[in-house]
Amino acid sequence: MRTDLPLALLGSDEGQRADAILRSCVHCGFCNATCPTYLIEGDELDGPRGRIYLIKEMLETGIADTVTRTHLDRCLTCRACETTCPSGVKYGELLELGRETLENAPVRGLRDRLVRWGLRRIVPYPRRFGPLVALGRAVRGLLPRRLRTAVPPRFLTQPVTNPAPAPGPRAAGRVLLLEGCVQRVATPGVNDALRALLGARGVDVVTVRDEGCCGGLALHLGARADAEATMSRLLDALAPHLDGIDAILSTASGCGVTIKDYGRLLAHDSARAPLARRVAALTRDVAEYLGALSGDWARDPTLKRVAWHPPCTLQHGQRVTGVVERLLRQAGYELVPVVDAHLCCGSAGTYSLLEAARAERLGSAKRSALLAGAPDVIATANIGCQLHLSAAEPAAGPGNHQRVAVRHWIELLR
Ligand code: SF4
Ligand code: SF4
Repeated sequence: MRTDLPLALLGSDEGQRADAILRSCVHCGFCNATCPTYLIEGDELDGPRGRIYLIKEMLETGIADTVTRTHLDRCLTCRACETTCPSGVKYGELLELGRETLENAPVRGLRDRLVRWGLRRIVPYPRRFGPLVALGRAVRGLLPRRLRTAVPPRFLTQPVTNPAPAPGPRAAGRVLLLEGCVQRVATPGVNDALRALLGARGVDVVTVRDEGCCGGLALHLGARADAEATMSRLLDALAPHLDGIDAILSTASGCGVTIKDYGRLLAHDSARAPLARRVAALTRDVAEYLGALSGDWARDPTLKRVAWHPPCTLQHGQRVTGVVERLLRQAGYELVPVVDAHLCCGSAGTYSLLEAARAERLGSAKRSALLAGAPDVIATANIGCQLHLSAAEPAAGPGNHQRVAVRHWIELLR
């Protein structure tokens, strides 16, 4: 793709990077075939190729308008287009720059800006988000439907009955577990389940008090400065605990994909860059770590058939594929076939709140696809997908109305 970015922009690292990404796109349009928003809207501007043109135009002219805002807001950041693209276009990175440019332009009304500010100020902070969730649960019946479905129900997680053995000299490994900000509030049993699994294998688990958010939420909202401040706080919290650690584990793939990218995201910050690279290099999705441990797992004897939903942040963002499936099969589960497993469920961070109608449509289609094989349980690897799919109403069809729980796959291993 030919570009004509202003010299002032090309003088910056970001401008150079945007130019290189734009030039790598040969506008073949293959990516449209796997873009969930293109598939439901049928509009070129709601596909990756169209959005790449919109970002290019915005960067070239310096003008951000409501058309660009609308179509970039509708992007899920699922990065299915990156997996599909034969030219290796780094769409997610380009979108980051596009969204940051948009957020610095006067293209949003006051209400929109307030909602986005509120999300950044509440969701990543368990001490603010936790009481709100508790209140939401108490008055769920009085809430409008859109808010009611956003409140995490209690049954998404189960108390762990076999707590991890105390750390000791027999340790076969030592990991730092990131407890996550939303997950810690909504499904605390997931991290407890992991502690129990790792403890049984002799792996010590350490956690960090007040670890905070990874910065992913602010980054997706185009609030770069806010995101970097949040990342820096997490780095400061992790720094004293890194010596002797084999890996930093994340059970929420949405957090893992951001932290693995810290080296790039903070490369311009000479004071933080070395620590950012170290943390990124140590970070593993829990599937990667468990997949490398020897021995077998057992299944929950009350469940057999599993419909697996790989979050976009795991399959497209981290490119971790096939590992959870292997572990679940080893444990004795039968994985039912699921069509269009590459498509996003519509959760996509704050997308399910900010683009609720599209998110509901995608969630409904995904839940139907997951239920088609008559599973006992739906399993996934990210708190956002778990909440969204739990609230989704499947499209009408045989067997689709059964209430099948959506669980984190870690909770299915014994
Ligand atoms: S598939 Fe890749 S090269 Fe082709 S239009 Fe999409 S982003 Fe551009
Ligand atoms: S990130 Fe997802 S929604 Fe956005 S353009 Fe790519 S495939 Fe489409």
